[in-house]
Amino acid sequence: MESLNKITISAEALRHNFAVCRHHAGDAGILAMVKADAYGHGMIECAGIFVEEGAVALGVAEVVEGIKLRKAGFTVPVFILAGIINQTSQAAVENNLTPVVVDNSALGELNKYARRAGKEIDIHVKLDAGMGRQGTLPEGIVALVKEIDAYPCLNTKGVLAHFPMADDRQSSNSDDVLETFSSTARLIEKEIPHHCMYHIANSGGLFYVRGAQFDMVRPGISLYGCYPDGETGRQAATKNLLKPAMCFTTSVIQVRNVDKGVGVGYGHSFFTGRPTTVAVIPVGYEDGYLRKLSNTAQVLINGHRAPVIGRISMNLTLIDATDVGPVNVGDQVVLLGPQGSEEITADEIAGWMDTINYEVLCLFGHMNDRVFID
Ligand SMILES: *Cc1c(COP(=O)(O)O)cnc(C)c1O
Repeated sequence: MESLNKITISAEALRHNFAVCRHHAGDAGILAMVKADAYGHGMIECAGIFVEEGAVALGVAEVVEGIKLRKAGFTVPVFILAGIINQTSQAAVENNLTPVVVDNSALGELNKYARRAGKEIDIHVKLDAGMGRQGTLPEGIVALVKEIDAYPCLNTKGVLAHFPMADDRQSSNSDDVLETFSSTARLIEKEIPHHCMYHIANSGGLFYVRGAQFDMVRPGISLYGCYPDGETGRQAATKNLLKPAMCFTTSVIQVRNVDKGVGVGYGHSFFTGRPTTVAVIPVGYEDGYLRKLSNTAQVLINGHRAPVIGRISMNLTLIDATDVGPVNVGDQVVLLGPQGSEEITADEIAGWMDTINYEVLCLFGHMNDRVFID
């Protein structure tokens, strides 16, 4: 039997968003980011859709995710973007995953397993062009590329970097990072006689930073229908709007008529200020509907907004359904997504939770059963 709590993923929305990204990408190939179970949308299904739509590669954070893609039969390059260490070298090589290296520490092991497998492998190098998180600084990059190419079974195929603030269109940071990346690319091309491919753009870089496409782009959040700068991005977009792919729905499991002045739920954090129709839903913090949303979030019933009242508990949440018309057990409740002409967005929920849309999608998607539609 299906759970009452359900995440639905629209394949049509994913395809649409891929097309929007392709439009921005120009001639650059698209590496579709499917890490974190495709931001909670389901890695295997999403990867299938993006590859069908023309993704030239897939991106994950860790080797274990890449192995799942290989087991599912994907043959396109799969990039391990959080990098390879000695312990993960063998599995990366044996599963034909594309290692991203952050420094020289795993090169010996990568070469060893490549030699054992009787093949040469393509390596991409992570440059720290201003992210300040991972990788090698520009001054060390030529030496690292030369060191890689000195190994008989390793070839430097690409150089990548990551923007720290591409979601902030007011900041000049991305122009500085882009300039560092471009000048480092020119230096590599001058010093080393073979041609690398270059890639830097996440969704923010792809949508907001002019000239960040290079040979390949790496959108994530935009493929799933959200803007990297949330509601600001959606408001600013005039055409080719991204379509959110994820909805979170449940059903009413009890309707109660509660008198005025009654404390509801743990801690009586809410007292009814009027005779109140309370709808009980079987969603709680174990479903990713965090306690932080208590007395704050809204849901949709009968196409109208209705507030969460009282404290969200592990498996139950209370809704003030007084103003939404007749409510019955079994009626659909939308926590994320549209109902009628109303919509609750991941950005709105992120605001209530004091976080970003990325975290809302991962949380809801990871903690609930998913079905694909369209
Ligand atoms: C997650 C990630 C991306 C995608 O970022 P979005 O903001 O979701 O588009 C691109 N590149 C790297 C290295 C990443 O880790």
